[in-house]
Amino acid sequence: MQPPNPSAIRRHVPVAVLLPVVLMLALAIITVLGFVVWSTANIDQRSLERQTQSVSRVIQARRDQMQMQAASLAVWDETLINTKLAFNANWIERNLASRMHANFGYDALVVVDEANNPTYAMVDGFPVILPENASNNTPYRTLLADLRATHLQAAPIGTGQQPVILTDFLLVDDRPALVTAATIVSDTGALQQQPGTEYVLVLTRFLDTTVATEINRQYAIEAGHFTMTSGTAPDQAVYPIVNNAGRFITFFQWTLDRPGQTVLSQTIPMLSVTFLVIGGLVLLLLNQLRRYAEALEAGKHFSRYQASHDELTGLPNRSSFEAELARRLDGRGHEVGTISLLMLDLDRFKQVNDTLGHQAGDELICAVADRLRAVLGKDTLIARLGGDEFGIVLVHNASDTDLPQTSQRVIDAIGQPFELHHYKAHVGASIGIVSIDRGSEEVGSSELMRKADIALYEAKAGGRNRAMVYEEHMNEMLQLQHTIEGELREALQRDDQLSVVFQPLVSQETRRVVGAEALSRWSHPKYGQISPARFIPVAENTGLIEALGEFVLRRACELGANAPGRTIAVNISPTQLRNPQFSHVVFDILHRTGMRPSDLELEITESILLDDEHVSSQNLRTFRTAGIKIALDDFGTGYSSLSYLKRYPVDRIKIDRSFVSQLAEGHVSVSITQAIVTLAHAMDIEVTAEGVETEIQATILGQMGCNVLQGFLFSSGVPREKIVDVFADPANALMSRGARSVKAMAR
Ligand code: C2E
Ligand code: MG
Ligand code: MG
Repeated sequence: MQPPNPSAIRRHVPVAVLLPVVLMLALAIITVLGFVVWSTANIDQRSLERQTQSVSRVIQARRDQMQMQAASLAVWDETLINTKLAFNANWIERNLASRMHANFGYDALVVVDEANNPTYAMVDGFPVILPENASNNTPYRTLLADLRATHLQAAPIGTGQQPVILTDFLLVDDRPALVTAATIVSDTGALQQQPGTEYVLVLTRFLDTTVATEINRQYAIEAGHFTMTSGTAPDQAVYPIVNNAGRFITFFQWTLDRPGQTVLSQTIPMLSVTFLVIGGLVLLLLNQLRRYAEALEAGKHFSRYQASHDELTGLPNRSSFEAELARRLDGRGHEVGTISLLMLDLDRFKQVNDTLGHQAGDELICAVADRLRAVLGKDTLIARLGGDEFGIVLVHNASDTDLPQTSQRVIDAIGQPFELHHYKAHVGASIGIVSIDRGSEEVGSSELMRKADIALYEAKAGGRNRAMVYEEHMNEMLQLQHTIEGELREALQRDDQLSVVFQPLVSQETRRVVGAEALSRWSHPKYGQISPARFIPVAENTGLIEALGEFVLRRACELGANAPGRTIAVNISPTQLRNPQFSHVVFDILHRTGMRPSDLELEITESILLDDEHVSSQNLRTFRTAGIKIALDDFGTGYSSLSYLKRYPVDRIKIDRSFVSQLAEGHVSVSITQAIVTLAHAMDIEVTAEGVETEIQATILGQMGCNVLQGFLFSSGVPREKIVDVFADPANALMSRGARSVKAMAR
């Protein structure tokens, strides 16, 4: 999995978010627009209805007005007299015709007798002579007939004095007109008439532009006019005018007042701006949402990456390594060949961390990860399992013999010094390997890791800086580890299992045995020889080291008492040294055995130098004051800092065998060892080299100025009787040949 790359994160808002937002926006716009359009149309419709009603009322008002005006003339004694009883054309013209034309704009005024024959006529303000019987041929005929019929009906009620007035729309000379016919009767009742003999006054007003203009002005109607054809323009409204018989006469057409449209035209720009603003806000919101989505996605990526990767090296972490291993094991039927799991643990990493600081430790871990990638290739599954532990999965052919070489390449690569920011560090690598073949039975990833761990433990116990392949007996040994405590406790109670052997210490210069190191041995009735590397740590963890250490010290001092002048070295664990009673134990044993303190050398490990405990330093000081020598064991594997030696002065340094074993190879160890020897001598400290196995190593160490040599070249640890023989042998100069004889003795 790659580290999260922000530019690779999806750059759009998820459809699940985008779709509802867009839909909601569209719905909102459609709803608002729909509502606006609907309500404006509604307003316009209502306005049309209102205007049509108004026009209808206006027309009706015209009729009523005309009827009233006709009545005011026709129901009047003067009119009756001057039109019928004593016909006076001048009077008619002056009081009726001219007045009605001039004041009220009537186009025609006609007086007809009881036979509907015109007796007087005025058209456009001028008197005209109409032919007799003309009314019967005019559009007025029906109106007059209706009037008289009505009059006759009304006659029994009145006495011929009741006026009858009829108004109707007529086409006069094909022109629409409003016509009113009124019977001329007495207003006082003083002048009686025979019913049916009444004269009739007929008033005519053409529905022309003048009338329309009057209506428009009076009622604030826009562009109203009379027309015989209705317009089709959307902003035009028409009102059909029909006569009393229901016949169409004309249209009144006018320009509609459409408040809805006005509101709409005023609202649209405002709405558009509002929609634009809302759209902009939504875009902003979506953009913000996109950012949040991106941040969320990046966060998810990052936490997924973090959850599965080691922060420091960028390698997969333990949990993702286990998951990937399980995946590969599950699918190994499809994978070709064998799967090998390598567990790698750095040697001496803790010391680097403790002495150079955590930053240097972190740098070192990163550098190790880089070297692993470089050696194994970036396609190999490499993980940091924690601390200084790494896991590697290799897939190869079952017959592949490369595995040992590959692990050795890894060990060699990590064995090279690391150039850290301010320091140079030197660590090693121990590797536990377990392989599983394609056809083998099912093994879970955790079981495989457990086995690789056991092999790693063996690699460390076997001297570190090596690779060990898991074997079944290792598991048994591990089981033993769990029971070791009880067994060791029992062994300490008995005298037939634990023993002490002595490994000769040889003077480099003379090749004579100058002393021996006491090493504990445990011969278990069931498990055979158990290595101190296995039981000493258990003894240290359980406190049994006190009893064991006392046992070894006593045996060593017993030998030392009998070999004055020979140095007898005894390994002391930190636990013992931290015990305030420890010096008493040592002096008590020296006293009881009679050994000279100056012949005793206590070997301590470098970790003690870091120990700030007052007791440890107090004990060391007491020992040195008494002439007991102090040696620093396994030098080079721990803190390797000579500066500590100023705080805790020692008499001897024992260079660890991991340096000695690499001496002949022209390795970096040569210069390191030389530096240690030179510095130690400068501080007046003697140097012993451990694990000398070859003559070449002995020679090189001799050239470097090493004082004492110890190793299988001369002898391994031998029982007390044998070392006593070596001490007693007057010709115990140990040349290589001699060493073989000592080895023979040891056997
Ligand atoms: P050490 O004190 O460094 O002892 C030397 C170890 O190196 C011994 O292993 C010895 O057998 C081994 N050795 C010596 N020469 C050679 C050689 O040429 N080649 C190789 N490959 N190995 C060589 P051993 O006896 O297994 O002891 C291991 C460690 O256990 C000792 O390392 C010491 O730290 C510890 N130990 C042993 N006995 C005691 C004891 O009584 N008390 C304490 N506290 N630790 C002990
Ligand atoms: Mg030792
Ligand atoms: Mg040692």
